[in-house]
Amino acid sequence: MKLFNVKNAVNQRYREFNDGAIIVDIKREDLLHTQVSGNKLRKLKYNILAAQRLGLDTLLTYGGAFSNHIAATAAAGNICGFKTIGVIRGEELGHDLEKTLAGNKTLNAAHALGMQFKFVSRSAYRDKYEDFFQFALKKEFNSFYNIPEGGTNDLAVKGTEEILTIKDKDYYDYICVAAGTGGTAAGIINSAAPHQKVLVFSALKGDFMFDEIAQYTDRENFMVFDENRFDGYAKSSDGLIKFMNGRFRESV
Ligand SMILES: *Cc1c(COP(=O)(O)O)cnc(C)c1O
Repeated sequence: MKLFNVKNAVNQRYREFNDGAIIVDIKREDLLHTQVSGNKLRKLKYNILAAQRLGLDTLLTYGGAFSNHIAATAAAGNICGFKTIGVIRGEELGHDLEKTLAGNKTLNAAHALGMQFKFVSRSAYRDKYEDFFQFALKKEFNSFYNIPEGGTNDLAVKGTEEILTIKDKDYYDYICVAAGTGGTAAGIINSAAPHQKVLVFSALKGDFMFDEIAQYTDRENFMVFDENRFDGYAKSSDGLIKFMNGRFRESV
């Protein structure tokens, strides 16, 4: 399928420290595709191929109102000829859809690509994988391919195992990656060379990321950093924006 016919991402030199003794590159997975960027494309790849093989015509997935995974699933489904359904946290967002879409670029883009939304309360969202909720979804939408929140499952990890190239495995001592569900990190950990260490930076509050990742790997070549410096997932502060702009300016 053409969407998944991607080349390897380029490694962009970010900085050299200690007169070139330490080199830091950034892998530009974000440039792989304009709508389905980076790790989201990797995580969807084998899931969409599986949905196709099963003869299903609809992808259903879950996310918050600002989820990159929701936007990526809408775009990938659109490109590959699937209907898409997004189960979105926040019942109130469904009360006035036009107003919601006007104020939310993520949902607006997904909607424009044909995604149908089912807005649910926070408590229903918490129970989304329970039998009673899944049964209600089956009743409402009939047959669909079920992709978990954030897109991470075994097939997603198979996709993220394709991020590192042979050259990457040769060249780098450390690989750093941000984690939401940990699926991207798990694929990198599985495919890293024996001498490489993967440093995982959790974007979420709490200390569960190690166990999340351990579900998808038997390897021990990684460390999780979960001290939460910037207030938590999807939060931003002046300090964070300054920090990001500083790193960006150094990289261009
Ligand atoms: C989704 C996302 C992540 C988290 O990926 P997981 O596989 O859920 O850990 C990290 N960085 C960016 C830029 C993302 O969009």
